[in-house]
Amino acid sequence: MRILGRILIGIVLLVALAYGTLLLSRARDFQLFGEIVTRGDGAEQVVALTFDDGPTAADTPVLLRALEQGDAVATFFLVGRDVVANPEAARAIVDAGHEVGNHSWDHPRMVFMSPAAVRAQIEDTDAAIRALGYDGAIPFRPPFGKKLVVLPWVLSRMGRPSVMWSMEPDTYLGAEMTAEALTEYVVEGAEAGDIILLHGMFPANAATREALPGIIEGLRERGFGFVTVSEILGG
Ligand SMILES: [Zn+2]
Repeated sequence: MRILGRILIGIVLLVALAYGTLLLSRARDFQLFGEIVTRGDGAEQVVALTFDDGPTAADTPVLLRALEQGDAVATFFLVGRDVVANPEAARAIVDAGHEVGNHSWDHPRMVFMSPAAVRAQIEDTDAAIRALGYDGAIPFRPPFGKKLVVLPWVLSRMGRPSVMWSMEPDTYLGAEMTAEALTEYVVEGAEAGDIILLHGMFPANAATREALPGIIEGLRERGFGFVTVSEILGG
């Protein structure tokens, strides 16, 4: 019985450890190394709109038009491979004066990558962004929000924080996602300093493209201004 008891305790500990590791890799505001940021200090009535993934040739112009009409700046966390594949869309983002962030080279799960592979994901994407003629700050956001050990360690050696978010409407709304629901959730829920995670550059993101003009208008009515991620973080 004592041996069986020890085995049982061992199994429970292993399961707890595995579960803890999973939670840690998903945690939005905790990591082992380096700095992780999720929002601005809220001293000013501003938010940062952020768009992850892409760019795509078809849908990026729709977002850019809505931002231009609303006179709003945003931050686009782009995937290096897609920057190279869709240079016109990427250059249009730069030319419109938006901030461009690094969202890895090909959006891999980075949890079990070697430090050299992680570093290549980041540096190759930086190079693709710079090749557009972009000379602003390049914040980094990990794909899937996964961080764990190697990625935060590499980032801390590079002196770059992991830029996450404080508002995540896609996850909150899930299957309930419609343009109306998204607009209402963001406009009513936003607080000063929020970094708002949006996706808008793929066919499945039609609701986001449809909602964007109303989101900008509604937030303006609440007195919000729009800034880049670097600006909201005090950069
Ligand atoms: Zn992503």
